[in-house]
Amino acid sequence: MSTSLPMHGDKSVADHITIGLSKVAAALRSQAWEGGTARRLTPTQGQILALLAERAGEPVRLNQVAAELCMTAATASDAVATLEQKRLVTKSRSSDDHRALTIALTGAGRREAQRTMGWTDVVRAGVAGMTPDEQAVFLRGLTKIIRSLQEQGVISIARQCAGCTYFQPYVHADAAKPHHCGFVNKPMGEGQLRLDCPDFIPGSEAEQADRWRQFLDGSKGR
Ligand code: SF4
Repeated sequence: MSTSLPMHGDKSVADHITIGLSKVAAALRSQAWEGGTARRLTPTQGQILALLAERAGEPVRLNQVAAELCMTAATASDAVATLEQKRLVTKSRSSDDHRALTIALTGAGRREAQRTMGWTDVVRAGVAGMTPDEQAVFLRGLTKIIRSLQEQGVISIARQCAGCTYFQPYVHADAAKPHHCGFVNKPMGEGQLRLDCPDFIPGSEAEQADRWRQFLDGSKGR
């Protein structure tokens, strides 16, 4: 006798979650095209503007754009060249490495980036409707998915707590705030995990593997 619920058919829960995430990705892509078409921006160009806006005040290099947005160096370079022609970004030589190019938003680019970042509002509305407990569980799940994408080589950079040298998982007895961030020197709960933190410092591979194991094992029996 099948143990599947009739609504699941022959698909597993993992299949349904994967389908759900694909739908979210498709909705974001459609929003990006719809919002961008009127202003003649491709989703790639919009993603670059949004990344630069999130990193305001930090020098962002071309190779970093490519790595963080999972695109080839050539695609990133072409998109940045187009944005430069539209006067939405400027390129300059990095002050610490003159062979590297850094990219920054112009005033018009900053305004365009604000509109671009609105493309994600449709998803944010759904996330905002979740309870704090649901958000914390979801955040932990996303942390695991992103870690897996890194291990598979799909994502090269993820500035998330689980890979950060400051992160100390399950060092506190308080179930509401079991982790510790050494950067701010404060306990943190699952709902405070960061997926893109400006203060992230990666540890060595061995350190990251140890920390990840502590993060997974620490939840057992709690
Ligand atoms: S510095 Fe940022 S990424 Fe690192 S543990 Fe603290 S909050 Fe997490």
